[in-house]
Amino acid sequence: MTSSTHLNRDIVVRFAPSPNGLLHLGHAYAAMVAHDYARERGGQFLLRIEDIDSGRSRPHFVESILADLQWLGLQWDGDVIFQSDRLESYAGAVERLQAMDLLYRCFCTRTSMRQAQADDSQAEGPNGPIYAGICRHLNPELARQRAATEPHCWRLDVAKAIAMTGPLEWLDERHGKQVTCAEKLGDVVLVPKDMPVAYHLAVTLDDTRDGITHVVRGDDLFASTDIHRLLQALLDLPTPVYFHHPLLLDASGAKLSKSRDSASLSVLRTAGRSGYQLIEELRQGIFPVGISLS
Ligand code: GLU
Repeated sequence: MTSSTHLNRDIVVRFAPSPNGLLHLGHAYAAMVAHDYARERGGQFLLRIEDIDSGRSRPHFVESILADLQWLGLQWDGDVIFQSDRLESYAGAVERLQAMDLLYRCFCTRTSMRQAQADDSQAEGPNGPIYAGICRHLNPELARQRAATEPHCWRLDVAKAIAMTGPLEWLDERHGKQVTCAEKLGDVVLVPKDMPVAYHLAVTLDDTRDGITHVVRGDDLFASTDIHRLLQALLDLPTPVYFHHPLLLDASGAKLSKSRDSASLSVLRTAGRSGYQLIEELRQGIFPVGISLS
């Protein structure tokens, strides 16, 4: 969108929304923080549409995201990046992790996992229930045979991976130096049943591919960064600096979300509200009634 001739290439930041719903005020805040982080430092601000989940991504949500950002006056540099254009590029990393014997097939269904979770009161992690490890020690030959007929995903054996890398560090400019504790998320899925790659792996590979130096995103992804750091170490990728910003909360103290029907930006946009003014208010910490910062 903008001329990139005078940009500081030492600072590359991205906004990476998933087009599975309409953006709301929380996204406007997130996009503004990332945009301003880059611009205040003369850096680049990229837009990456995270549309690997073909079951939930919709073209009209992509259109809406682009229109919302333009309305807000948050201009990105270069072409919009689409993860769906890169689906084949993730296979190499999956094969590499398989060759390191760090991935295993998991045949669990939602029902079998719910059952296992109910049996184990310790199994809640920062991003939801932790996988109970049911398929971790399946006989590999048996798993191969089952794979011919049964749908399955591939999970990262996190304990094994950590045994390889040892504890790792990363820097969050707001929260300080962090030492990884990736096991608290459990054995995350890296290749879902019906997709070539899952969020954790795609985002880690793409942040490297796009030359992202500073990952600026919400606190809701703070815990996931330990997994991303682990993947960086396993795949010899550079580690960006992180900045996890606070989240916008509704009157009940819950984070704004697409599924909770938080007021969408497109409603405000089509009602004729000024996007520039909205962003200016968010910058100044002026939020609509009932909305606050975490
Ligand atoms: N696509 C992710 C989301 O919409 C964000 C990814 C990221 O910023 O790391 O929640």
